Amino acid sequence: MATADALTDLPPTPLFPATHSGIPERYVEQCKESKARIYSNKTLPPSVPRAGELPVLPPDVDRDTFNKAIAELKESLGKEHVELNDKPLVDGWYMEHPNTHDAFHVVEQSELVSSATVYPGSTEEVQAIVRWANKFLIPVFPISMGRNLGYGGAAPRLRGSVIIDLGRRMKKVLKIDGQNATCIVEPGVTYFALYEEIQKTGLPLWIDTPDVGGGSVLGNCVDRGVGYTPYGDHFANHCGMEVVLPSGELVRTGMGALPGKNGADNPSWQAFQHAYGPSVDGIFSQSNFGIVTKMGMWLMPETEHQSYMITFPKEEDFEQIIDIIRPLALNRILGNIPQLRSVIQELAVTGKPKSHFYQGKDPVPEEVIRSHAKNMPCGDCAWVFYGTVYGPEETRKMQLDVIRQEFAKVPGSKFILPQDVPEDHYLHARVRICSGVPELRELDWLNWKPNCAHLAFSPITPTKGEDAKIVHELVTRLHKKWGFDSLPTWCVSGREMHYIAEILFDRADEDEKRRAIACMREMIAEAAAQGYGEYRTHLIFMDQIARTYGWGDQALMRLNETIKDALDPNGILAPGRAGIWPKRFRGRGFQLLPDDEKTAINGTNR
Ligand code: ADP
Repeated sequence: MATADALTDLPPTPLFPATHSGIPERYVEQCKESKARIYSNKTLPPSVPRAGELPVLPPDVDRDTFNKAIAELKESLGKEHVELNDKPLVDGWYMEHPNTHDAFHVVEQSELVSSATVYPGSTEEVQAIVRWANKFLIPVFPISMGRNLGYGGAAPRLRGSVIIDLGRRMKKVLKIDGQNATCIVEPGVTYFALYEEIQKTGLPLWIDTPDVGGGSVLGNCVDRGVGYTPYGDHFANHCGMEVVLPSGELVRTGMGALPGKNGADNPSWQAFQHAYGPSVDGIFSQSNFGIVTKMGMWLMPETEHQSYMITFPKEEDFEQIIDIIRPLALNRILGNIPQLRSVIQELAVTGKPKSHFYQGKDPVPEEVIRSHAKNMPCGDCAWVFYGTVYGPEETRKMQLDVIRQEFAKVPGSKFILPQDVPEDHYLHARVRICSGVPELRELDWLNWKPNCAHLAFSPITPTKGEDAKIVHELVTRLHKKWGFDSLPTWCVSGREMHYIAEILFDRADEDEKRRAIACMREMIAEAAAQGYGEYRTHLIFMDQIARTYGWGDQALMRLNETIKDALDPNGILAPGRAGIWPKRFRGRGFQLLPDDEKTAINGTNR
């Protein structure tokens, strides 16, 4: 472990706006503390020497062709905008993340890597890169920020692909419409950046931010990420895209397809999602059909708000809690996307390591978790519900009265307001997140283990206790079987819930990594056998999960492949993303299915 002295010497995190992915001044202290905590738990060196000839090449491309292609790319974009991935790999941390590989490597660090990174400065340059990729048959993988940690970070699905890092140079908030509460962003705009930009205008508008604010608004949206205000379903709140197709052609979706007067943008582009004809936006999310270079998002008008937490005493209470949540959610009495979290997370978000609470290597026993919870603001409990209501005082009061009354039906439940807990309690971070203020606090559970990384298992169920029980029981059982603490959260958006179970593992522990993969594989298979599927996943599970959506003898995948082959006949754009492989790579051992890890990370059995 690093010593206290070494920690005070940690170099400062780059600042925003000087660095597009940097931290705004107002977060500097919080950022410093977060970084020190995470580095105090690192035992791995910053980097290790790499083996073999570098950079790693994409499949079907020899070194001469690759070198010639890179020279041509440098010539057209400027050599400072093309970087080879031939140096040691540095995982860094959330705010100083790599764009060369998966910083949360659950397979070998050197497996999910790119060959190079290119930094376009405009949509025209993105088009030029795509045409270049077609010419040399080099696979490319777009990222906006590359902070998709837990789902593969900045790594490409196919080893040796060239990363198109859109965020570094295409980072403008192109428009904020204060009247209609909308904006248009480029890929490099983080939640931190959009928040700062809106503060500068003084407009009474909120953004919706996920748990940590360093991701890009656009990248999170196309990966169908979620936040916690009433605008928490990000894809449902986007409006209009500009997309570079794998051929290099440029399209605008929604009302943007109809040119405005004298060549201006269409005035309704950010007002109406569907326009005329097929609604195609969905095919550019969680896919490999296009590179989104601009996106419209709806913003939420500022309003009054009240966050709260409710604790419940018994593990088995969750079925009743969820059945209480359903009518409240359907009737929009729960104002936001609330969370029901397992009490172990109260321990983890303190930022203290697991060893502070328990010395064993096995999962922390329930009685130990509860004995610590007893001395914390949540008290001895099994579940904690975090919610927020919005609007003027009378509206909030009416909603809160119903909420309190309904949850009081669970014997022993306790209702807690922010003023009832200390200033450093997680509830205050929820107040900020649920009122559109980006945060870093959620990083704190990444101190649970040394060199801590996470993998998310994220199935969807209806908002019904009986469905929740099936998924929760299999997740609990399989976490125990494979030796992991289970830290589940239900995020409720009306009729469905995202169940997010984070496996926390030590990147230095090969056995733990092997078990994390085995646990994920088994959870995916068992959940699918019961009819439950994941909404999003890490790169190495994409093939397995895509197959679980196999109704009609893989009819949906055949449709996806038909679209892929029509749009991308050379198979250059993000091959394998979402389990969709272009013709040229199909049937060649690139798919990663449950028994393939040892032989086939990105086609090493090719
Ligand atoms: P974040 O901005 O949250 O860090 P990433 O940039 O890591 O997110 O992107 C998340 C996922 O979405 C990645 O798998 C990436 O391939 C895809 N993606 C990101 N930006 C784009 C884009 N502009 N066009 C198409 N796909 C994208």
